[in-house]
Amino acid sequence: MFETRIERLRAKILEEGLDGLIVTGRKNREYLSGFTGSAGFLLVTAEEGVLATDFRYEEQAKAQSPHLEVYRYETPRDGLSRLVKTKKMGIVGFEAVHTSCWDLGEWEEDNPAITWRPMKGLVESLRIGKDEEEIRRIRQAARLTDKGFAHILQYLRPGVQEREIALELEFFLRREGAEGVSFAPIVASGPNSALPHARPGERVLESGDFVVLDFGVIVDGYCSDLTRTVFIGEASDRQREIYGLVLRAQQYALGQVGPGKDVAAIDKGVREIFAAQGVAEHFGHGLGHGVGLEIHEGPTLSSRSTDELRAGMVVTIEPGLYFPGWGGVRIEDLVVVTSQGCRVLTQSPKELIHV
Ligand code: ZN
Ligand code: ZN
Repeated sequence: MFETRIERLRAKILEEGLDGLIVTGRKNREYLSGFTGSAGFLLVTAEEGVLATDFRYEEQAKAQSPHLEVYRYETPRDGLSRLVKTKKMGIVGFEAVHTSCWDLGEWEEDNPAITWRPMKGLVESLRIGKDEEEIRRIRQAARLTDKGFAHILQYLRPGVQEREIALELEFFLRREGAEGVSFAPIVASGPNSALPHARPGERVLESGDFVVLDFGVIVDGYCSDLTRTVFIGEASDRQREIYGLVLRAQQYALGQVGPGKDVAAIDKGVREIFAAQGVAEHFGHGLGHGVGLEIHEGPTLSSRSTDELRAGMVVTIEPGLYFPGWGGVRIEDLVVVTSQGCRVLTQSPKELIHV
C-alpha cells in the first residue's frame, strides 16, 4: 500500500524534473510512510525513500515504515543537509505549503549548490483518491459518529448547556474507541445555530431552538464529519419550512454526486433551489469538502472550484441556511464517490427530530 503511494509520487517527481522531494507535511508524511510520530521528514528520490527522524522515534519509525530506510538525525537541519549531500542531489523539491521561510533559508545557506524548488500539492493530489483501506477506516469513523449522534439525542432537553452536550459527546466517542475528535464538536443552539462555526458555550437549550450538532472522530488516522440539526419542542411552520428546504437541497446534491460530475455545477444547483425560495444569500459557505487523514482536504466543493468528482473520493455534502438572530439549519453527510454515483457513509436519520 505505502509502496504504491510512493511509486505514484515518484512518477510525479520525475515528471517535474526533480532529483527528489522533501516531504515535510505531517499528514503527507504519514500517508506515504505510515509513520505517526510528531517529528521527521521524508526524502523520496528516483530510487530511494528515506524516513528521517530523531532518537525518540527511531524504533517507532522502523516498526511503522519497514518499506523505508530510517535515518536518525541530531537536528532536522543537519539531517537534511547530510542526506542531500550523500545522495548527490542537484534539484530538490520541497513542500512550500509545509516549509517555513526560516527553514528554507537555513537549507539554502547550508547547501548553496542545490536548486531548491517550491512545490505544491504533489502528495495532496494523490490523497484525493482513496484506496479501499482508507475507505474502510473512514467508514468505521462514520459509523462511530452515527453512534455518537444516537447517544447524544437523549441529552438534548431544555436547560442543558451547549458545552455539557459537547463534553458528553466527546467522552462517549472516546470511550467507544475514537482516537480523538476530528475537530472540536459544534453544538449551536437557538440564535447560535445561525453561526456556521459556533463554539459550544454557556447557553442552555430552550424550547423552540434549533440545535446544530456538527462533529466527527478519528479512527486509525482517518476522519469523519457529520451534521444534524434537531428541534427542541414543537417547530414553527417557518422552522419546518427552512428545515425541509435544506433537506431537499441536500438530497438533490447527494443525487448529483458521481464520477465525472463538476462540483461547481452541483453547488450551483443547490444555490438555485435556495434562490427559488428567496433565501440564496443565507447559504454563505461551500457545499462540502474532501475528508481523509485531515478533516478538510481536497477536493473543494464550491462554486469557484474546478474540481471534478472521481470514484474513490470521499466528500461531505453540507448545505445550510443561516438567519442571524433567528437560527440556522445544516445537514451534512459523508459520502464516497463510486463508479455509479455515491454511497452515503453517515446513516443518522434526517427527518426533523423533536426532542
Ligand atoms: Zn461538519
Ligand atoms: Zn464538513
